[in-house]
Amino acid sequence: MQIYTKILIGMAVGTVIGLTLGPNSSFLDHDVYSVRNAAAVEVRIQADDPSSRLPMPKGAALRLTLLTPHSPAEGELKEGEVGAGWAKVSFALTDRVLLGDSEGRITQLVPGARPGKAVEGWLKIRYQPIEGGGHQASPVPISGLGDTVIAIMHPIGEVFMRGIKMVIVPLVFASLLVGIASLGDLRKLGRLGSKTLGIYMLTTAVAVTIGLLVAHLIQPGDFIDAADRARLTAQFAGDVGAKAASAAEAPSTIDNLLNIIPINPLAALTNGEMLQIIFFAVVFGIALTMLGEGEGRIVVTFFDKVQGAMIMIIHMVMSIAPFGVAALVAEVVGQSGASVLQALLVYGLTVLLGLLAHSLLVYGGLVRFVAKLPLRPFLKAIRPAQLIAFSTSSSSAALPVSMECAEDNVGVSNSVASFVLPLGSTVNMDGTALYQGVAALFIAQVFGIDLTLGDQLSIVGAATMASVGAAGVPGAGMVTLAMVLTASGIPQVGLALILGMDRLLDMFRTAVNVTGDLSVATTMAALEGESLMLLSSEADAADPSRGFEGRLDKEPEPIEPDKG
Ligand code: ASP
Repeated sequence: MQIYTKILIGMAVGTVIGLTLGPNSSFLDHDVYSVRNAAAVEVRIQADDPSSRLPMPKGAALRLTLLTPHSPAEGELKEGEVGAGWAKVSFALTDRVLLGDSEGRITQLVPGARPGKAVEGWLKIRYQPIEGGGHQASPVPISGLGDTVIAIMHPIGEVFMRGIKMVIVPLVFASLLVGIASLGDLRKLGRLGSKTLGIYMLTTAVAVTIGLLVAHLIQPGDFIDAADRARLTAQFAGDVGAKAASAAEAPSTIDNLLNIIPINPLAALTNGEMLQIIFFAVVFGIALTMLGEGEGRIVVTFFDKVQGAMIMIIHMVMSIAPFGVAALVAEVVGQSGASVLQALLVYGLTVLLGLLAHSLLVYGGLVRFVAKLPLRPFLKAIRPAQLIAFSTSSSSAALPVSMECAEDNVGVSNSVASFVLPLGSTVNMDGTALYQGVAALFIAQVFGIDLTLGDQLSIVGAATMASVGAAGVPGAGMVTLAMVLTASGIPQVGLALILGMDRLLDMFRTAVNVTGDLSVATTMAALEGESLMLLSSEADAADPSRGFEGRLDKEPEPIEPDKG
């Protein structure tokens, strides 16, 4: 069975587990409050005694089991007014909670307080009035069993993620160094660099514009009613602050540019600073070729072997991909839950429609008419990278697999792939930019804000720049979205509306980001006059030295050090 078929099965299994056994499953009892910031809730030992309030530290996670829910009596909640009630809960004291209590209040209120001690108390349930009638309770309970299922699966996904991430830095550095050294032509490098950046920026600006167009066409904001808006805000408002705060900490553009030159290349490697690593590998590679008379060959040969070994590691890690992917997908789908997905269905579909249109028009055009390759076999050749991007939601994590797909399955040369793809994984994020266009317009529509043409142009500019600045990690696009919203005067609280679906859409937009990198790499290779050759399934199965099939079948051989 082909690797991508196995990964697809893993995804399907993960989706089913996430929906049926996840924390937001509608098949399970919602009997637990999982609070991410304990300071945001009020817990008392006696519901009617304010002095029995337990002090809770900021940022500590708390899991409270629901014993008796609060059901408001007739007339208890007044239309249009905020209300409150108490739900009986039990929870275990944690180190964080006890350490945060420097005054010893908890020790006074709970006899025998120590980590792990079970406490019964009351949790304040707040009721926010919903525009148009009714109230929304917060916090919202989830399924304790689902939460546990996801927690058990989490390490499996993590093993896989860490496995591929482990390869990124040595692989990118080694293969880029070898690629640049084998180029031996500074003019070619300059041409490659400027054209690649040009195509990357252009495709990104087109992506945001497509995002804005589909959002105008479909008007997803009209499909959200007041109750959905209140529910989504109640569930996710707590997370908005953190996103906005990370966006506020982002350095300015000029600092970003300066930062490409590493002060300490080893620190750049240890911290995985992709642009700094690229810069140093390029300069190092050029310097080796300038030594002349093959003086640098020993270094290049060394890194060539390092690169080969890293590729072998990718093959080993990919053999557990189906399990890792199942766990990752279950977690994301389980946390979103069907009700959130339903409320945001039209918004999500708008993003997906935009992504599809962009992929077909822009990437389809590049691959078909510039690289002159047939589309279907091309898609098949890059599918492992797309699936890994989809399930990890990280362009960086998918990078080793993208490089392998480009070189082995499409026939792009090492010098083009090792330059264009690592660069793309950090600066080229068309899917992210497109999603930001839709998200900005969607939030504006829900809040009834009219955006002028100027506002929308600033969204195009800001989203293009933001996608350069965003790292290829899960959720990065959401953080930079805060900047895009500010640029066009849309309130950041709107982020709460779309947070519930963000991780799920992240999967699709990351797959598009990686498809974009691979399409541009293929196009650049064609423009450089390389003859591309797509790998067929038969060739993959028949030739163990190509593709993902069979390479691990080789027996390990002992290596004696060269004594000469
Ligand atoms: N997860 C995306 C990526 O790695 C970035 C984002 O849109 O959040 O490409």
